Amino acid sequence: MKKAVNWKDVVIIELLKKDNGICQLCNKVLGDQLVEIDHTRERSDGGIDAIDNLRLVHLTCHKLHHQNFKKLPSITYDTLKNATTDISKQIIVHWLKICNGNVTRAAKKLGLSRKGLQLKMIKYNLRKANGTQ
Ligand SMILES: [Zn+2]
Repeated sequence: MKKAVNWKDVVIIELLKKDNGICQLCNKVLGDQLVEIDHTRERSDGGIDAIDNLRLVHLTCHKLHHQNFKKLPSITYDTLKNATTDISKQIIVHWLKICNGNVTRAAKKLGLSRKGLQLKMIKYNLRKANGTQ
């Protein structure tokens, strides 16, 4: 009896190889936690279903990621400066949450140096999440 190929399994195996078994949101080992396939560039933004545009993430990180990012554009701002500050702040808080308050990992996700992120956290008056690090 032939067993049908489960394409999701095939994709997951490819992504495990590509990303070395690391969650592409929190940078921790995927391990035996539940995983999901995420689009690096969202489909709504023109992203396609190709291995290069897919990544494996923890189910919990994935949920948090989409919850937070959905909220962003709905806010209205009076000035560009206020908008930039507020959105920057939200994105920093978002990655600190996903990275469990680990400044080094969050900085990497934000494309900042650790020092750069620390300076922004002081500037935006952000306290470290969860008291870690
Ligand atoms: Zn994760």
